[in-house]
Amino acid sequence: MKLLVTGGAGFIGYNLVRELLTEGHDVVVLDNRQSSSPLQDHADALYIDGDVVDPPTVVGRFDMIFHLASVASPPRYLADPIGTMRTGSEGTRNMLERASSDAATFVFASTSEIYGNPMVHPQPETYLGNVDVTSPRACYDEAKRFGEALTHTYRRQGLVQQTRVARIFNTYGPAMDPHDGRVVTNFLVQALSGEPLTIYGDGEQTRSFCYVDDLVAGLILLSRTAETSPVNLGNPSEMTINDLADVVARLVGDTGRDYRTLPDSDPALREPDISRARTVLDWDPTTDLEQGLEKTIDYLRSLPS
Ligand code: UDP
Repeated sequence: MKLLVTGGAGFIGYNLVRELLTEGHDVVVLDNRQSSSPLQDHADALYIDGDVVDPPTVVGRFDMIFHLASVASPPRYLADPIGTMRTGSEGTRNMLERASSDAATFVFASTSEIYGNPMVHPQPETYLGNVDVTSPRACYDEAKRFGEALTHTYRRQGLVQQTRVARIFNTYGPAMDPHDGRVVTNFLVQALSGEPLTIYGDGEQTRSFCYVDDLVAGLILLSRTAETSPVNLGNPSEMTINDLADVVARLVGDTGRDYRTLPDSDPALREPDISRARTVLDWDPTTDLEQGLEKTIDYLRSLPS
């Protein structure tokens, strides 16, 4: 198949493109390099520099578009809130238009952030969410909510026949930008350089961390189903940020803790209910946190300093 991966030079994109190439597909990446992986481009894919908001001409016809393009780290989207909203709205519309003219399947990378600060825990896809539209974080959350709504609308209007929506929960692993500000890379980079781990708030907020290979396997499985409803993809093993700090200290060494202010609207709890993914995709994450962190530590150590 001929596949377009927007955001294919980013963290999840890098890992997805590797798998798609291994399967023998013809892969084109469209990426503006705003938050790309430090790893080198895959030699077998064609990379086009460009932004989904104002896309360059990309010749050919695609069978499937994986639309991943967006910054995803809170400090990054808070630094470019209007750009983030344009990517989720105008960028998604442009890629849906492309899927429409190519009669391609459209796979939208949505997010657990669409649940906001959840009042239902764990979060099933049927939970409608609790996003504070007035909060700074809404630039990302609402852009992704709009992107989902637009995706469903294009399908209902018959403009794109095949759409898939993955709600991606916290993901980590090799190819992450070590400086993108997310908690796993922050903690590992800090521990490896002997600095205290920066914990925002009291560290009792929870997240559930999924190793990237598991996530990519789920995304590819979803792309092959006929499932048009959103599907949560994430690892349901919930833990506090303090627990994560304990695991990092055990694996790398105890470098102490530096408690800081909690960012505005930081969700208190997050854990995916993956019953739908289990049923529809026969998928479950298989990498436990320590295994996944060890691989991420090896990756970070392999990067030139
Ligand atoms: N966090 C932290 N220290 C850091 C970075 C993040 O305590 O150095 C917290 C952050 O406030 C949030 C959780 O870790 O509660 C996960 O943050 P991340 O930015 O990785 O992703 P989010 O789930 O917030 O999108």
